[in-house]
Amino acid sequence: MAIERTFSIIKPDATARNVTGAINAMIEKSGLRIVAQKRIRMTREQAEIFYAVHRERPFFRELVEFMISGPVVVQVLEGDNAIAVYRDLMGATDPAKAADGTIRKVLAKSIGENSVHGSDAADTANKEIAQFFAGNEIIG
Ligand code: GDP
Repeated sequence: MAIERTFSIIKPDATARNVTGAINAMIEKSGLRIVAQKRIRMTREQAEIFYAVHRERPFFRELVEFMISGPVVVQVLEGDNAIAVYRDLMGATDPAKAADGTIRKVLAKSIGENSVHGSDAADTANKEIAQFFAGNEIIG
């Protein structure tokens, strides 16, 4: 298996409920390593660029407002097959449909406020990491 990096966001609903450590514990238990991490307040422009692929979706405005409503923790996760491993650990977008033991099943509240983001492919992971981290901020 290949060592990969993926981009993660701990979203405002999770920072508000003080469960960033609980999420990091689940990430580390899965075998992934947190090789970069910072707590930031996303700007509207950053959120609109980050979710540009969803611009035409009916929930786009709500999504951007949510992502700038409080602090987030942006992260780079590294490990074997990191992109797929983290998607599995996150669970389905809608927490009600997420598998037992996943972050969204255990901690998330709704399809919009679903606690975490994880890249869906290698090209998006690279792009998302580059939006928030300089190369020298990622220490593997
Ligand atoms: P993900 O890859 O599982 O995060 O899901 P998507 O890429 O399909 O959607 C991106 C994000 O948009 C989700 O994580 C949710 O925060 C939000 N989202 C998706 N569908 C809905 C929806 O029907 N309503 C609202 N309010 N937000 C949604």
